[in-house]
Amino acid sequence: MSIWNFANPQLRDLVAYEPGKPVEDVARELGLDPSEIIKLASNENPLGPSPKALEAMRAALEKSHIYPDGGGYYLREAIAQKFNLQRTNVILGNGSSEIIEFVGHAFLQPGDEIIVSRHAFVIYKVMAQLFGATTLEVEDPHFAHDLDAMAAAITPRTKAIFVANPNNPTGTLVSQAAIDRFVARVPENVVIVFDEAYQEFLDEPSDTLQFVRAGRPNVLVTRTFSKIQGLANLRIGYGLANAELVEVLQKTREPFNTSGIAQAGALAGLLDEDHQRATRELNKEGRDYLQRCFASLGLKYVPSFGNFVLVKVGDGRAIFQALQQHGVIIRDMVAYGLPEWIRVTVGTMEENTRFIRELNHLVAPPQKQPAEKCH
Ligand SMILES: *Cc1c(COP(=O)(O)O)cnc(C)c1O
Repeated sequence: MSIWNFANPQLRDLVAYEPGKPVEDVARELGLDPSEIIKLASNENPLGPSPKALEAMRAALEKSHIYPDGGGYYLREAIAQKFNLQRTNVILGNGSSEIIEFVGHAFLQPGDEIIVSRHAFVIYKVMAQLFGATTLEVEDPHFAHDLDAMAAAITPRTKAIFVANPNNPTGTLVSQAAIDRFVARVPENVVIVFDEAYQEFLDEPSDTLQFVRAGRPNVLVTRTFSKIQGLANLRIGYGLANAELVEVLQKTREPFNTSGIAQAGALAGLLDEDHQRATRELNKEGRDYLQRCFASLGLKYVPSFGNFVLVKVGDGRAIFQALQQHGVIIRDMVAYGLPEWIRVTVGTMEENTRFIRELNHLVAPPQKQPAEKCH
């Protein structure tokens, strides 16, 4: 007897999401000193959390014995105010990945289907399978979502379409004109999810909230405190949608899915414009530097709108392992069907230069030391 025979059948081939390797794991496995390892593997904020968020969380710790306000009144109110929406347009998640899961709980049954772009964030596919739904992947010319082709791919089984903008791991962005055409074309019985985890890094952010404000019933925009806010460990993100869609999603939410500490940190971080600006500027400097270095090393890369860059290095897994031996953690892209590529998160300039120095040794012909030129 195997208990597998009684478990939901779709769980058998479910490949769990593989996150970036924690520093402590690498230190333990390779016998390295954790303080000498740098992690550029999970698109985290190299500046850390906002000092204001830290202060708010320390105060909130005193209330650790009290259950949180599961409804997240103050945080939802502040988010609504910031985006000129109502609190009823806002739902909080244990990370924005939980909001993606709410969509599954609310809309997906075995036999249903979701549509994604070919190299989109892999969580959508994993989540769909959890609910027994299939994933239709639409080709992505030059690694960018082809929204026209995605709309054209809708079938009677399609329940949701996911648009990661900018996309992780490709860093590509779709245009406002393409978004407008897409929303006009997708029927209202199909939920459109705009995953905007990196929206705050954009110089000219696209406007998807106009559809929520206009009362479009099937548009959900997700954002997170994990990236520009530097609060990935807290697990908090949010969704913005028409009140009725939020009401549907709220039914699927655990009563205390976000902690009071997370809510307090997120609220203070949301209002800390200085920290976000500093992060954006550091990211731009580091991303330019990395892209310049890749060019001078003769490596193909995808120009990025996020806080990470996808770069073609040959054997991605081998480069990942070799870098790890030298205390630099990045991501190989095997799970994305891109074995020749790696994804590196933009770090501090010190981290970026260390990464480039190590990469240079691995990919440059010995007679050439081109990384010196990209400074
Ligand atoms: C990091 C990321 C998320 C956010 O994850 P959290 O659960 O909020 O930490 C969502 N979507 C994409 C595309 C991401 O890269």
